[in-house]
Amino acid sequence: MFLRIDRLQVELPAPTRQDPNAAAALQELLGGKYGEMSTLGNYMFQSFNFRSKNKLKPFYSLVAAITAEELGHVELVSNGVAMLNNGPDNGGDETDGGDISGAPFEDMKDIRLAAAFLSGGGGAMPVNSNGQSWNNDFITTTGNVVLDLLHNFHLECGARLHKLRVYETLTDPAGREVCGYLLVRGSVHAHAYALALKKITGVDIDKMLPTPNIPLSKIPECQKYLDEGSHRRLYTFSPDDYKEMAGIWGNGEVALPDDPPGELQVVDGMPEGGKIHQLTGVPSAFTPDYAPEEMFEIASKLYKASR
Ligand code: MN
Ligand code: MN
Repeated sequence: MFLRIDRLQVELPAPTRQDPNAAAALQELLGGKYGEMSTLGNYMFQSFNFRSKNKLKPFYSLVAAITAEELGHVELVSNGVAMLNNGPDNGGDETDGGDISGAPFEDMKDIRLAAAFLSGGGGAMPVNSNGQSWNNDFITTTGNVVLDLLHNFHLECGARLHKLRVYETLTDPAGREVCGYLLVRGSVHAHAYALALKKITGVDIDKMLPTPNIPLSKIPECQKYLDEGSHRRLYTFSPDDYKEMAGIWGNGEVALPDDPPGELQVVDGMPEGGKIHQLTGVPSAFTPDYAPEEMFEIASKLYKASR
């Protein structure tokens, strides 16, 4: 089962301006073939379907724990997309719907993913940068441990490529931070699956890393995560379970040659994380509604009743 914490895995800076086209580019990292929906779906179903879980605990634990991290990545990218769609943090919800007859959202017809506004109300959706739906054909769960791990290794290297390309299109700090953080974490996952394959097969597949062949130190947004050692950490995302992956991630294994040196470590639980930015209401877009005052009042009474 899953436990939910009302925080993002990392603190994101607020966007400096509304940029729905940047949000569309970032959608590739959410609903694209190599996006977070795909890594989540692959590891989640592989972990559900894993054969001989008890006997293969280090490998099962690795896939299971990374599943939970990927669910948080889906949340993180979705927040990044919505933040770019909505613009800088502001003073709070508007409450008056006002006169909507003057085409207040005329600009939205010209954004490249018009459905992001027309259908999604400025949120994120499980689609790629062209609005094509994410789909379950992006999931591979064969039941063969080597094949599944090899698929995961390919998926993380492919995800790294896509993150780098999206990063190269973005100027806003919110979108770049999402890419920088996910590049570090994706590199961890590629390394972890390489080590798992090495333990089973004896093949030094970790020598193929980094793929693409650019070290994280070339990306300014990765620097603080390298300084704090995020590239050496895997989290269990559980109070008590999944510690067995330390036999793979740890056990004398060290950081990749291009990254700051040190031993790999498994951390119990989860990162401290960062706040979820408020997406404030825009009555003329009917979010959360045209005249939400009564809704806010009801919610306020319910909140008081819960204390
Ligand atoms: Mn991820
Ligand atoms: Mn990953």
